[in-house]
Amino acid sequence: MTMDVKKLSIDTKLIHAGVEPDLTTGAIMTPIYQTTTFVQLAPHQHKGYEYSRTQNPTRYALEKALAAIENGKHATCYASGMAACDAIIKLLRPGDQVVSTNDLYGGSYRLFTKIFKNYGIDFNFIGMNDAQQIEASITPKTKMIWVETPTNPMLNIIDIEACAAIAKKHNLILVVDNTFGSPYLQNPLDWGADIVMHSATKYLGGHSDVVHGCVITNSDTLQEQLKFIQNSCGAVPGPQDCFLILRGLKTLHVRMRQHCLNAKAIAHWLKQNDKVDKVLWCGFEEHPNHAIAKKQMRDFGGIISFSLKEDTVEAANNILSKTELFALAESLGGVESLCGHPASMTHASIPREERLAVGLSDSLIRLSVGIENVDDLIADLEQALS
Ligand SMILES: *Cc1c(COP(=O)(O)O)cnc(C)c1O
Repeated sequence: MTMDVKKLSIDTKLIHAGVEPDLTTGAIMTPIYQTTTFVQLAPHQHKGYEYSRTQNPTRYALEKALAAIENGKHATCYASGMAACDAIIKLLRPGDQVVSTNDLYGGSYRLFTKIFKNYGIDFNFIGMNDAQQIEASITPKTKMIWVETPTNPMLNIIDIEACAAIAKKHNLILVVDNTFGSPYLQNPLDWGADIVMHSATKYLGGHSDVVHGCVITNSDTLQEQLKFIQNSCGAVPGPQDCFLILRGLKTLHVRMRQHCLNAKAIAHWLKQNDKVDKVLWCGFEEHPNHAIAKKQMRDFGGIISFSLKEDTVEAANNILSKTELFALAESLGGVESLCGHPASMTHASIPREERLAVGLSDSLIRLSVGIENVDDLIADLEQALS
């Protein structure tokens, strides 16, 4: 393509970035290059590919597309979101410390505390609503700030620009897990983040049929290290999985618009329901971080959490067992609506007192609002809550 991809709108980039008609056949879709190795004309004389752990044409097309939609220079794809987190922490050395969000995806919390702690890397989990608190927690050992925004399941919003200013001042790597926002709603590199990562399993894939992860950066130095780590450790995705994410990307903008519209209608409906206590959704003006959400996000996302006036696990379970369109399942970001109970599912490994301290109450229910007809979704919630 001779057009400057950087100047295109995200809607167009999602469909065109990274993909070129196949040179040998003209196939408009990037083929699934299901091959381990590539024939060389002479030693080291090849067409850019030697072995599929190092690079593969389907993966390469996806990496170009992902870099373009996150306004980044480089992207690296992984076998899962956790493999992407794993590669990022491997940039550090024993003795280094990470300052991280306290309201973190359970799998990241487990990777940090149960695996990397054993290798001498230290983690400090703090509330990040107040940027001053982040700066106060930095020590000479701190090398990285790890931010997830919106957070899961409390849907707090962390100011990426403020974090980037602190990271720059103290020479730290700022990582943003952008899984909940997706590149359609939020581009952390534009606010000064050094690394953005995704569980592409969620909104990027969008159809609940592939586990995948990716990392995007503007830094040549970080990219070189990430590629070295990936080629050495081997957490690569297969070409078919890359193809499925590439295919998912093409509708990200239309899906996200509908996720956001549906979530907005459901958040307002839940708010007036007399069984519901709190509704957590960053689109409400009274949400404590609404102004930051408005600044750094293009819309407010498809995830809603709410608690019940009868704040018990039983009351939540009663509702979760009655929904029909909202399927009770872990994960999020697919076209179909899902519901979950963080206290007993995704966050069950966190002690109850710690959970309650961050506001994650016994009855809290999380919805991943899909793109079905919103009246049908509301009718389902209505019958489950009545
Ligand atoms: C799901 C998820 C991950 C982990 O990704 P996998 O693809 O499941 O390995 C990391 N961060 C967030 C915010 C997630 O939702």
